[in-house]
Amino acid sequence: MSDKPRVAFFDFSSCEGCQLQVINLEEALLDVLALVDIVEFREAMKESSEEYDIAIIEGSITRPMDVERIKKIRERASILIAMGACAYLGGIQRMGNKWTPEENKEEVYARHPGSETTKGDDNPFFEQPRHRAVDEIVKVDAVIPGCPIDSDEFAKVLVALLTGKKLPIPDYPVCVECKKNENICQFEIGGFCMGPVARAGCGAPCPTHGGECEACRGYVDHPHSQAHDEVLKKYGLTAEQIMNRKTMYTYRYIEEARGE
Ligand code: SF4
Ligand code: SF4
Ligand code: SF4
Repeated sequence: MSDKPRVAFFDFSSCEGCQLQVINLEEALLDVLALVDIVEFREAMKESSEEYDIAIIEGSITRPMDVERIKKIRERASILIAMGACAYLGGIQRMGNKWTPEENKEEVYARHPGSETTKGDDNPFFEQPRHRAVDEIVKVDAVIPGCPIDSDEFAKVLVALLTGKKLPIPDYPVCVECKKNENICQFEIGGFCMGPVARAGCGAPCPTHGGECEACRGYVDHPHSQAHDEVLKKYGLTAEQIMNRKTMYTYRYIEEARGE
């Protein structure tokens, strides 16, 4: 029997795009497989196992049954990795925390006929008022940010964990990478960008291709949020608009600041 660490992937509330990014490793996946045995990976194999050393989690924790499941996974794993913005931050779906379950239900089902296939008064989604990141429920040993994650960064994080090296996740803002790409700043052309507080490592693809950064990799460890707010204000956003601007991937930080 192999003595390589056993890796299992688990998905919660997510689009499974981060797991696809792992499959997209292609040849580099062989390098990863030289270091570990993958024993469960629903997107890529039929087998499953209750015995593993490293659990890689995709998705946010949403339903009561998810809480129980993630706790059991944590008990079995020596190392637990939160993979992607859903697991790391609570995902885009965390915006739903702004409203009550009843309001969300009304918005999704009453105002959008045609979505009845998943309707049900016993749908446990609506019993849970909050979407949460994995580390709000159990201890997380490492995160791989992004929506989706970057395949190469996934491989680097895994190798760093297995070899006891420092995790290769940058702690400087996306603006640094954006400026290296010699982009015109979004603020100069009418945009409202999250780049000054967002964690780099992605290479700033969104502003490079004409969009605004949405901070899908979360914030740097010590973001200059006040200075960023001042910039948003200077370029014309009201306090409410500033708050709304920060909810796509980063509503977690607003909830944390409010102590929710
Ligand atoms: S982080 Fe993005 S790509 Fe990954 S599972 Fe969540 S929504 Fe999908
Ligand atoms: S476009 Fe965004 S990421 Fe680029 S420099 Fe401006 S604020 Fe920073
Ligand atoms: S530029 Fe911003 S939104 Fe785009 S991938 Fe990077 S962190 Fe995510």
